[in-house]
Amino acid sequence: MLDALSERLQSTFARLGRGGRITEADLDAAMREVRVALLEADVNFRVVRDFIARVRERANGAEVLQSITPGQQVIGIVNDQLVEILGGNEEPLLRAEKGPTKILVCGVQGSGKTTLAGRLALHLQQDGLRPLLVATDFQRAAASEQLRVLGDQIGVPVYAEEREAPAPEIGKRALAEAKRTGATAMVVDTRGAVALDDDFADELADLADEIDPTEVLIVVDAMTGQEAVTLARDFDDAVEGTGIVVTKVDSDTRGGAVLSVREVTGLPIKFITTGERLEALEVFHPDRFASRILGMGDVVSLVEKAKETIGERDVKDVARRMQRGEFDLEDFLAQMQQVQEMGPLSGLLDMLPGAGQMKQQMQIPDIDERFWKRSEAIILSMTPSERRRPEIIDGSRRRRIAAGCGMQPADVNRLLNQYREAKKLMQVMTSGKGPGGLGKLLGL
Ligand code: GDP
Ligand code: MG
Repeated sequence: MLDALSERLQSTFARLGRGGRITEADLDAAMREVRVALLEADVNFRVVRDFIARVRERANGAEVLQSITPGQQVIGIVNDQLVEILGGNEEPLLRAEKGPTKILVCGVQGSGKTTLAGRLALHLQQDGLRPLLVATDFQRAAASEQLRVLGDQIGVPVYAEEREAPAPEIGKRALAEAKRTGATAMVVDTRGAVALDDDFADELADLADEIDPTEVLIVVDAMTGQEAVTLARDFDDAVEGTGIVVTKVDSDTRGGAVLSVREVTGLPIKFITTGERLEALEVFHPDRFASRILGMGDVVSLVEKAKETIGERDVKDVARRMQRGEFDLEDFLAQMQQVQEMGPLSGLLDMLPGAGQMKQQMQIPDIDERFWKRSEAIILSMTPSERRRPEIIDGSRRRRIAAGCGMQPADVNRLLNQYREAKKLMQVMTSGKGPGGLGKLLGL
């Protein structure tokens, strides 16, 4: 996630942490690099200025530079300030106290509103609510069709009208439909605009008056940077937002929008989306997000995700086996298949401590689909006893395995090395003493 920014910050801090002692000049140089990195990531310049000033203020204290671990302390301060500009504490989605929880989704054309509406409906459904999706967009051809397809995919009913009507009127009728069908949540998609003119602002305000939303989420496309942030502020003026969703926070996004929007609008970021898949919706946790940017990982999210996809019992089971060092190639294969289900590997790696380096070493762009297929083919070409006891694989077995899947003995070797590394890493991570204390998180 935000790979370019993350790599720059991590290399700056790696240098800072290396020497032991840090002088004022070292700190100056590091802060200059951070400043440039943030500006190049398209973070709002006022946000950058305040951020740097706050970090300096705290880092300049004599205790920091003269401590035994000044590098670590500076990184700690940067982390705290990043969490701060991202909003501090997480702000969960509000729930209506009485009647259905109503969410109004608005934002610029193409920012990902309709997709988000579907994702939110899925999220609410997983939370035990019975959502209704509502289409009010007649601007874009087949807009309601897009919502219907999404609704079908997740088994959520969609309220859409055949004939064009003003959004506030549709909203009113949709509300009646929600009451009639006993829906406990309602997600209202709106039309987009290229810019926010007075007519559009009035229409949104009327729609909001009509449905009295629990949440007004303003959608900001991370790819469009500061422009999106300014527009979010305009939307907030028009409809009084309650939260922000930043979409397209994919790995190649620069990150300026997500790092600026809280400070500029004063609204909390409630979710981010990180890909085209319907499941790519994440509740936004400022602290976890900051850790990911700084390469400190986010093991908590990783475990949550694993539990969601794999199921809690299986995760614990595998983790126990890892802890005892019983992790064999069958497990390795099963794990690779599960990881593929969890989504793109590079996104998952962001959640692991030290992932930045790992990514560079492993050259992730090549690793995805093809890497899995090749690894799978190699393991499938082994006998069951080889999978259970990889140590018996000698030169002649290696040649046989390679021939069996149309690869070279060196490929088999590489896979075995990866397996050994993974096994080692797993053991450390599940031991509870390791970086993430995964064992503890899993309740082992
Ligand atoms: P709307 O015009 O605001 O309703 O936007 P849509 O929901 O139709 O989305 C516009 C495009 O953005 C679609 O192609 C979506 O698949 C894509 N999109 C939405 N969210 C994300 C995301 O998090 N990452 C990426 N890469 N694409 C996204
Ligand atoms: Mg749309």
